Amino acid sequence: MSRAEELINLSPQEFIRFLRKQNIKKFFFVYDQNKNNLISSHQQLQPVADYIQADKRDFMEHEGMFFQISKNYDTLQGAFVHRTNRGQAAGGVRYWHYDKMEDYLRDGLRLAKGMTRKNALAGLWWGGGKGVMAHNPSVDKYDPDIRASLYREYGELMTSIRGCYVTAEDVGTNVTDMANIFSQTRFTTCIPHNLGGSGNPSIPTARGVICGMEAALKFIGNETLEGKTVAVQGMGNVGGPLIGFLFDKNVKKVISCDVNPDIVKKLKDEFAGKNLQVNAVERGDNSIFSVECDILAPCATGAVLNPQTIPQIKAKIICGAANNQLEDSERDDRLLYERGIIYVPDFLTNRMGIVNCANEQDGYVNNDPLIERHLTKDWEYSVYQTGLRVLKESKETATPPSKVAIRMADKLSLENHPVAGHRGRQIIDSLAADRWHEDI
Ligand code: NAD
Repeated sequence: MSRAEELINLSPQEFIRFLRKQNIKKFFFVYDQNKNNLISSHQQLQPVADYIQADKRDFMEHEGMFFQISKNYDTLQGAFVHRTNRGQAAGGVRYWHYDKMEDYLRDGLRLAKGMTRKNALAGLWWGGGKGVMAHNPSVDKYDPDIRASLYREYGELMTSIRGCYVTAEDVGTNVTDMANIFSQTRFTTCIPHNLGGSGNPSIPTARGVICGMEAALKFIGNETLEGKTVAVQGMGNVGGPLIGFLFDKNVKKVISCDVNPDIVKKLKDEFAGKNLQVNAVERGDNSIFSVECDILAPCATGAVLNPQTIPQIKAKIICGAANNQLEDSERDDRLLYERGIIYVPDFLTNRMGIVNCANEQDGYVNNDPLIERHLTKDWEYSVYQTGLRVLKESKETATPPSKVAIRMADKLSLENHPVAGHRGRQIIDSLAADRWHEDI
């Protein structure tokens, strides 16, 4: 086993012990474009940098990655900055369990790249990045004092990297956590309403999904939602309001399911009198994928589109809010394409979460035009217009839609911010020049 493999096969806690023995509390990997080299702050960690750089799956010239061990509760906290041409990197911070350092690093790299694409395709003047905290299994992550301490330290990390990454809410992170981050840094969005933030983005996200469906229906033959049957997996913060918006559009029927019986009961009551068929299901039950319907909307978890579910799908269109719906983005995008199913890429249609909070510092106006334009039919970068553009190009070039959307997003992501230029890169270079890792 090479030195790099030894290190990335360690669990995050074993890795932290290794770092402590080396007297390392903070470290970074920074990509030097001129030398085409990912450089580590510490010689002992250069094999990990070399391993990351050699990877073709998740690494894509990420500009920088900054890590610290929290002072309390031995938790590895990281900021993955992918690309900042369009602006500082924006994306949420995930608090998650990882068995191995390789999984931790891959998740951060992959998710940061995904945010670059989501933000660029939405026409936002933001780059892409992601925060990842590796849960230390020996601490109780539901203990409010522990959480407060961890998120305050995450805020300190944000301040220390001077805004090359601006964090936000993500899986495993709640508004109280965001308030704790905000107490230590200005480089965060998605803070609670009472502190001047934009609050819960789920309603705009559900509206964005409707726009994606309308684009797909227009594409397949000038159709609308009226009279259609839609299957919705997951009736949570997004799926619940989505059902209401679908009835507003006069759909014929909604078939829906959730693993939480309380949510099933609540939604049944809320839509009593409407043509809603709703079932409580077991976790892992994907029977909704085989129901007769026009549109399928995955709004629960990721990786639901795969070689097991795709052959069963009866819908003509798939368009939902869940992140990373394709289990394998290359393979499953193609499988859907070959079956003639129109797939609206998730990162195109579920953008409203980040759109809603990314520009919080601009203040608020009623029916904010900078947010609402994403939900119109005419703005060039709206969900609808972008969706149509992607689907048309997919047809013209005989390429699955996710691939087309990625190609478009990658091109847009290289445009420099009209005012600040490629400033994130300059911030990263300054951090490396100032030996960020020594400032403890
Ligand atoms: P949520 O947790 O409020 O709702 C998800 C619902 O799915 C829950 O009610 C849960 O019980 C249910 N569920 C889980 N597994 C299921 C299964 N196998 N079958 C049926 N139901 C199942 O989350 P949310 O905020 O509504 O987000 C839904 C998805 O959309 C997530 O993947 C999220 O990452 C993504 N997303 C959300 C937003 C947003 O603004 N909330 C933005 C972008 C993307």
